[in-house]
Amino acid sequence: MRPHGRDALASLYFEYPIFDDHALPWDTGYSYYRGKKILEFQMPDSANEKFRPMYNLQQQYIEQFLYQCVEKNPFIEMRWRSELMQINKDTDTVHLDIKDPLRSYTIACDWVVAADGARSTTRRLCGHRLNGENYEGRYVIADVQMDHDFLTIRRALFDPKSRPGGTVLIHKQPHNIWRIDYQLGPEENAQDAIAETSVRQSVAAVLADIGYAGTWDLEWWSIYSANTLLLDDYRDGRIFFAGDSAHNVPIFGVRGLNNGIADGFNIGWKLAYFLTDKADIDILDSYTPERRGATLDVFANATKSTRFMTPPTQGWQVMRDAALSLALTDTRFGKLANPRQMTPYTYAQSPLTHKDDATFTAGPKSGAVFLDAPYADGYLCDALSGSYSLIYFGQTPPDDQDWCNVLKADPHSTLGDLYDAQNGTAYLIRPDLHIAGRWKHFDKTRFDASLAKAALR
Ligand SMILES: Cc1cc2nc3c(=O)[nH]c(=O)nc-3n(C[C@H](O)[C@H](O)[C@H](O)COP(=O)(O)OP(=O)(O)OC[C@H]3O[C@@H](n4cnc5c(N)ncnc54)[C@H](O)[C@@H]3O)c2cc1C
Repeated sequence: MRPHGRDALASLYFEYPIFDDHALPWDTGYSYYRGKKILEFQMPDSANEKFRPMYNLQQQYIEQFLYQCVEKNPFIEMRWRSELMQINKDTDTVHLDIKDPLRSYTIACDWVVAADGARSTTRRLCGHRLNGENYEGRYVIADVQMDHDFLTIRRALFDPKSRPGGTVLIHKQPHNIWRIDYQLGPEENAQDAIAETSVRQSVAAVLADIGYAGTWDLEWWSIYSANTLLLDDYRDGRIFFAGDSAHNVPIFGVRGLNNGIADGFNIGWKLAYFLTDKADIDILDSYTPERRGATLDVFANATKSTRFMTPPTQGWQVMRDAALSLALTDTRFGKLANPRQMTPYTYAQSPLTHKDDATFTAGPKSGAVFLDAPYADGYLCDALSGSYSLIYFGQTPPDDQDWCNVLKADPHSTLGDLYDAQNGTAYLIRPDLHIAGRWKHFDKTRFDASLAKAALR
């Protein structure tokens, strides 16, 4: 597991700041064609924000930290070695047949979030299928332990000596582990390619390409190909699909786990608001359009990267190679050789998003993810607490409500500038850090149950 976006990390940070201590931040990428650098890109970043644009962190740490977090939560009971065997649905309840090493039993559930992965049993038992495309290109992915002093910069090698005609991606992970992804040629047999001796030979060739001559060890390896597959609906009555059970996204969008975390955060706060009577049941209808929309957005971006990284036809290959050759002498073409990073999706069309106020000339739009900035003695993300928050720019903010906490901010501050604020401007931020609405001249008398209803309708 490698790159995670600022938004995903910020959502985890609410519960578990240790993520930030372990992960390696990065904002720079280099692309090379036949050994020559053709692109050096920098992701937008600023000292105003607590988190860097991207972080590399192995998935096992994320799972460990999530588990430690779950363990501390008195409302969650973890049952290991328990397998879902059958589902029976009636109008008000979902009955799950569970088998563990000691017994079989049934749990009656009001609501189910099915996060049971790409081969989801829940999806199969409910009779749903993922629809979309499988891509041809196959990649071997290898984790290598080595004391390599290169900075945490993502490297993409096109047509390197180690993989003529193919591509290679290299990322630094915590604890001196380097992740190397290399493309297999059409003539290479997958079984042979993942034999340990072949992987060692291929890794050695890549390391020679990047000029590393020290010792190294092979930690782990696997093989994958890119898919853009998703469910038509992320909800089946009282069951919500989240993560890989709802979608398989290509690796080049680095959005698999990132997207799954956003799914979980999205349905998590909505169920909590509904179950504690802070929102009515319609709030649950916004889950599919928001999260399926986000997946389709990832597909749109990742498909472009996938075609560039692993051209699907001879025609794409010719165009890709032409662009790379031109990039040797013209930097404008180098921009094409950037395996795209993930960007957070804007819920502009969501039923929970207020129409954007067109009088703003800057700041995060309605539906977009919030923008971090210095606030009080820390950062805005520290002040957002997991419920709805209203940032009011001015001296006399409205009173706190039970559904929302109110933050007073100075319009003449960095935060005010970034949010294009003046006296009386307000931004309403959802628990998952997306902007529910913004008003240049906020009408405080509207900040009551009617706004709550509108926000949560
Ligand atoms: C090689 C590789 C590299 C990747 N790199 C990245 C990356 O850089 N960035 C990124 O964001 N994503 C990446 N991903 C994707 C990421 O790993 C997945 O998107 C993520 O693991 C999905 O999480 P999930 O919880 O939905 O499913 P999973 O992690 O698959 O978890 C599903 C869980 O459900 C359990 N389960 C399954 N069936 C049952 C059943 N019948 N009963 C009970 N439990 C069941 C399984 O045991 C498992 O614990 C990568 C994936 C691969 C394969």
